[in-house]
Amino acid sequence: PCDASVEKERTLAMIKPDGVFGNYTDKIKEVILESGFSIITEMAVQLDEGNATVFYAEHSHRDFFPGLVKYMTSGPVYIMVLEKVTAISDWRALIGPTDARKARISHPASIRAMCGMDSEMNCVHGSDSPQSAAREISFFFGEMPGGIVRHDEL
Ligand code: ADP
Ligand code: MG
Repeated sequence: PCDASVEKERTLAMIKPDGVFGNYTDKIKEVILESGFSIITEMAVQLDEGNATVFYAEHSHRDFFPGLVKYMTSGPVYIMVLEKVTAISDWRALIGPTDARKARISHPASIRAMCGMDSEMNCVHGSDSPQSAAREISFFFGEMPGGIVRHDEL
């Protein structure tokens, strides 16, 4: 049936440095496409301390924050904008809970169960609300993405 009138959402998906280093990018993209998302745009990016700090600003008061910034800047990340009718909640459901150890028990088919390590190194990110999705997409793809370094060779 023609669904041209159905409003689709966009969300920001990211394969974190452990997922890129672990060579999970192709497998994750396969799962994304099999799950009915369209990949609107994609790029590899090297975050630095400044933009990782801004991206995760909501967690800046947490004791894990310095480790999180170190992790997120340890290598390139792979950024994708995903589109689907309910992209935001569907992508969050597909990645599973934050702690990959818990994901392996409660959501064994999730992406974090597949490629994550623990509560920090969990291999993927997903926007958690329409507001976060808008902010995070413009963070990487807005008019003036200051300081975002693309890795076009990846
Ligand atoms: P999510 O990525 O599932 O939205 P949060 O927004 O709570 O999770 O946290 C952002 C990121 O910070 C997580 O994906 C993970 O990499 C890291 N993190 C969250 N909680 C912890 C923790 N207790 N210890 C270490 N790192 C954490
Ligand atoms: Mg979050």
